[in-house]
Amino acid sequence: MKSIDEKLQPILRTVLHRNAGETEFHQAVHEVLESLGRVVTKHPEYADEALIERICEPERQIIFRVPWIDDNGDVQINRGFRVQFNSALGPYKGGLRFHPSVNVGIIKFLGFEQTFKNALTGLPIGGGKGGSDFNPRGRSDREIMRFCQSFMVELHRHIGEYIDVPAGDIGVGGREIGYMFGMYKRLTNKYEAGVLTGKGLSYGGSRARKEATGFGCAYFVQRMLETRGQSFDGKRCVVSGSGNVAIYAMQKVLSFGGTVVAFSDSDGYVVDEAGIDLDLLKDVKEQRRERVSEYVARRGNGARYVKDGSIWDVPCDVALPCATQNELSGPDAETLVANGVLAVGEGANMPCKPEAVRVFQKAGVLFAPGKAANAGGVATSALEMQQNASRDSWSFEKTEDRLAGIMHNIHDACADTAVEYGAPGDYVLGANIAGFVRVAEAMRAMGV
Ligand code: GLU
Repeated sequence: MKSIDEKLQPILRTVLHRNAGETEFHQAVHEVLESLGRVVTKHPEYADEALIERICEPERQIIFRVPWIDDNGDVQINRGFRVQFNSALGPYKGGLRFHPSVNVGIIKFLGFEQTFKNALTGLPIGGGKGGSDFNPRGRSDREIMRFCQSFMVELHRHIGEYIDVPAGDIGVGGREIGYMFGMYKRLTNKYEAGVLTGKGLSYGGSRARKEATGFGCAYFVQRMLETRGQSFDGKRCVVSGSGNVAIYAMQKVLSFGGTVVAFSDSDGYVVDEAGIDLDLLKDVKEQRRERVSEYVARRGNGARYVKDGSIWDVPCDVALPCATQNELSGPDAETLVANGVLAVGEGANMPCKPEAVRVFQKAGVLFAPGKAANAGGVATSALEMQQNASRDSWSFEKTEDRLAGIMHNIHDACADTAVEYGAPGDYVLGANIAGFVRVAEAMRAMGV
C-alpha cells in the first residue's frame, strides 16, 4: 500500500480499531486517505473539527433479521443491512446487494465509496448501501418475492424519498425492486415513487437506468482515451462479469467501434475471438438467467469456455472489470501490462486490488477508479428521483444525454483536480479529492 500522511495516521488507527476485521472497509478508507494528505497540506481547514474522522464513521448502521419461508415450507433466516453513511449532500442513496459474501464490512466499504461517488455526480444525493447475505442463486421466483417482502418489512421504517433511497446492486435488479416497492406501498399506504430507484418503466422507473452504469463507464473511458488522442474504435476489449454493468458497458463499447473478446461469470470466462454476440448473451443472462457456459454451447463458432484461471490472461487494449471487488490482482495487472493494455476502467466497485492499481499507474496505463467510472448508475438514479418528484417521464435520448454530460463532467473534474494537486493523469487522486472536497464543504457549513 502507499503511505499515508502522518497527520492522517491517527484517523486510520481509529478506523481500524473501531471496525476490527472489516478488511474491505479498511482497504477503501486507506485508499482515500492516501489521497487526502495533499488536501490537508494545501487546505489545513479540512482537517479541523475531526472532519475526516467524521467522514469515515457512518451516520447510522442498521442490522436486522430477515425470516422467510422457502418452497419446502422451511423457515430460512438471513441478515439484512442498511448503512446510512453520509447525508451532507442529500438523502442517503445507494444500492442493495444480495450475495452470500455480504457482511457489515462489505456494506460499509460500499457505503463509503458511494459517498464520494455520489458527490462526484454533482447531484443532491448522500451515500448509503445495504443488502443481505441471502443467496438468490437457484431460488424460485416465489422465494425471491417472499424474501424481498420480508426484507422490506424491516427496511421500510428506515427509508423514504427524503431520507434514504435504495436501488439495485449485485443480485438486485428490476424484479427485486418491483417486489420491494410493492411491499413498501402496502406497508405505508403511499405511492411514494421516489423511495426506490431502478423501478420498472410501468411504475415510475427511468428510461436508460438499466443501461446507465455500463454506458457511463464506457463514456468515461472514451473521454479518458481521448486525452491520449485515442478512442474505443478498433480496440480489443475484455469485460469481466455478465450482469447489468458488464452487458451495457459491452453494448456501448460496440457502438463506439470496439470489439469485445471475453466476458465472465463467477464460475468461469468465455473467449470469443470473433467478437461477442451481445443478443445471445442477453438472451442467456436476462431471459433465461443461465450461466455464461451456455453462451458457448449455443454460439457454435469456436468460442471457448475456461472454467478455472483468470480472464485477465486474455490480451486486450482496454480492460473493464465489471464483476466484483478485488477481482483483479497484482499479477493479473502485470499480465495485462505485459500484453500492452492501454486503459482500465472499473465498472464494478473496487475491482482492482491496491497492488494492481499501483502496477497500472507505474506503467503509465490510463486507470479510471470505480467511484468515478461507475457513477453513471447512481447518477441516473438521481435523474429517476427528479422525474418522480416532478411526476414526469423523460425520453431515452434525453436521459442518456444527461448521463453522457454527467460522465464527461466527472471525468473533467477528476482530471482537473489531479492537475491542481500536482498529479496530472492520476484519476484516483483526482476522484478522491474532488469527491471529498464536495462532501467536506457541506459538512463544514452545517457544523458539527
Ligand atoms: N449499486 C449502484 C452503485 O454502486 C447504484 C446505486 C444507486 O443507483 O443508488 O453505484
